[in-house]
Amino acid sequence: MGMDRAKIAARIGEHLAFLQEMGIREIRVPKGKAARQGPGKIEGLEEIRIDLGDCTRCPLHQGRKQIVFGEGNSSADLVFVGEGPGRDEDLQGRPFVGRAGQLLDRILQAMGLRREEVYIANMVKCRPPGNRVPQKTEIDTCVPFLMRQLQAIRPRIVCTMGSVASQTLLEIQTPISRIRGKFHERHGLLILPTFHPAYLLRNPEKKREVWIDMKVILAKLGLEPPSRKSGIGSQ
Ligand code: SF4
Repeated sequence: MGMDRAKIAARIGEHLAFLQEMGIREIRVPKGKAARQGPGKIEGLEEIRIDLGDCTRCPLHQGRKQIVFGEGNSSADLVFVGEGPGRDEDLQGRPFVGRAGQLLDRILQAMGLRREEVYIANMVKCRPPGNRVPQKTEIDTCVPFLMRQLQAIRPRIVCTMGSVASQTLLEIQTPISRIRGKFHERHGLLILPTFHPAYLLRNPEKKREVWIDMKVILAKLGLEPPSRKSGIGSQ
């Protein structure tokens, strides 16, 4: 996908030669964040992580052990977005590694995907105390970093898991049960909401609906589940 380095270098060389012919002898490169986010300039995940730093922008930093930035394929076609880190994620600094994460792994396995092939992140990067729902101000402070991550990855599909992620990214209040399983376009992204794996742990009968949603995603990606009998299971 995309041009290889040699081709990009050749194009840049041609462009510089053209500028030289036009009498241009100097190119000024602006420094700092504004330059990274300038028109047509897509920053990388590493730059975003560096900019996030040891973030204290919202009160959630007070109770966290580690920032959970997100992980996976930096050019994934499919990104999963949850609500926020829980206890296990906070301890390990990785998203979706607790019981809900193990269920997400099983969902991916049923889809014929490996965790390394997708990207996984959350609305907020620090664990809310007692796993409470993140507050609007906390989400509003943290979400711009997620949006920059999505801009850097440019996935074909963003699967929002649960009502917090889905309603926030879609900027609506409609219950998750009414928006799940359908594609919605927002912020230049194709978003498909589904139930959160933690909700599935409490309501295993809803796994069937999530599996229907995952098959919608696979079809959009031009993929098929490994077996027609596959599914998420009932446990
Ligand atoms: S939740 Fe986000 S904005 Fe708040 S302190 Fe953590 S990284 Fe910073």
